[in-house]
Amino acid sequence: MENCIFCKIINNEIPSNKVYEDDMVLAFKDINPQAPIHILVIPKKHIPSILEISKEDDTLIAHIYDVINIIAKKENIDKTGFRVITNCGQDAGQEVMHLHFHILAGRKLGTKII
Ligand code: 5GP
Ligand code: ZN
Repeated sequence: MENCIFCKIINNEIPSNKVYEDDMVLAFKDINPQAPIHILVIPKKHIPSILEISKEDDTLIAHIYDVINIIAKKENIDKTGFRVITNCGQDAGQEVMHLHFHILAGRKLGTKII
C-alpha cells in the first residue's frame, strides 16, 4: 500500500531493526520504545486495522500469535511475562493504519490496561 510506513518497512524502503521475518509476518523494534522490549508484529498483507480483518485472514491472524509465542521465547520474556496490545481507531490512539501488535516487556508493567 502506497504511503503506508509499515508497508515501506516490509519492502525495505525504510530501515528497521528486524527481530523476526517469514513470508506472512514481520516483527521489528518500535522506534519509540515504551518498555525495555517493545516489538511490533505486523502482517505483510496491508490490513488497516482489526476492523478490516476478514474470514480469509484466519490463518494469518493465528500465525501472528504463533510468531508472538516464538518471539517471547527468543527474547527470553516467556518466563517473566509480556503484554500484547493492538490499538484500533481514534480513541485508542492508532497512529499507523496497518494492523500491528505491540509486544511490551522487560520491566514490571502497570497493572491497568489503560
Ligand atoms: P499505534 O499508536 O498506531 O498503535 O503504534 C504505532 C507505533 O509505531 C508507535 O509505537 C510508533 O513508535 C511506531 N512507529 C511509527 N513509525 C515507525 C517507524 O518508522 N519505525 C518503527 N520501528 N516504528 C515506528
Ligand atoms: Zn501497510
